[in-house]
Amino acid sequence: MLEQELRDCIKEIPDFPKPGISFKDITPILSNPALCHKCVEAMAEWAKRLNPDIIAGVESRGFMFGFALAQKLNIPFVPIRKPGKLPREVFSCSYDLEYGSATLELHKEDIKPDARVIVHDDLLATGGTVSAAIKLIESAGAEVIAAQFLVELSFLNGDTSFAQKLEKHSLVSY
Ligand code: 5GP
Repeated sequence: MLEQELRDCIKEIPDFPKPGISFKDITPILSNPALCHKCVEAMAEWAKRLNPDIIAGVESRGFMFGFALAQKLNIPFVPIRKPGKLPREVFSCSYDLEYGSATLELHKEDIKPDARVIVHDDLLATGGTVSAAIKLIESAGAEVIAAQFLVELSFLNGDTSFAQKLEKHSLVSY
């Protein structure tokens, strides 16, 4: 079963990037082409009935499977990036972290106002990142129809209020 294969492959790194955090390292999945293929197939199978126009992937680990998913669905991929990386005019959205804040940016031209968008990231933890990505896309006037992840850390009881107005999907939940 895919979920078990992912659990067996994802490495848990204690005290990374700081003490008390158990980091889920998804990079071993990338070394397993057959497993990557299954992940993309499963994500595409779930996503295609929603008929999305665009996959928006969050820097940087959201680029890997987000782009593969967009290719599989034969639709455009749009990068959501950290500040100062995108060269054209951008929308920006800042959000609070445990200490300080972070900002995400999106090229204004990349999303048309009537587009139906799926946001993709590798992992859902507190929900701050995906909520900011959703706001960013909505500020372009587009509709976020779903948020899709490889991994969801349900035990954190993060802010999943975004899922009240759109669909949420993950391949493995801890
Ligand atoms: P959130 O904003 O939901 O707290 O955190 C999710 C974001 O942080 C994602 O962009 C994800 O890449 C990164 N992240 C947080 N914790 C982990 C983790 O344990 N493993 C990985 N691979 N990414 C994480």
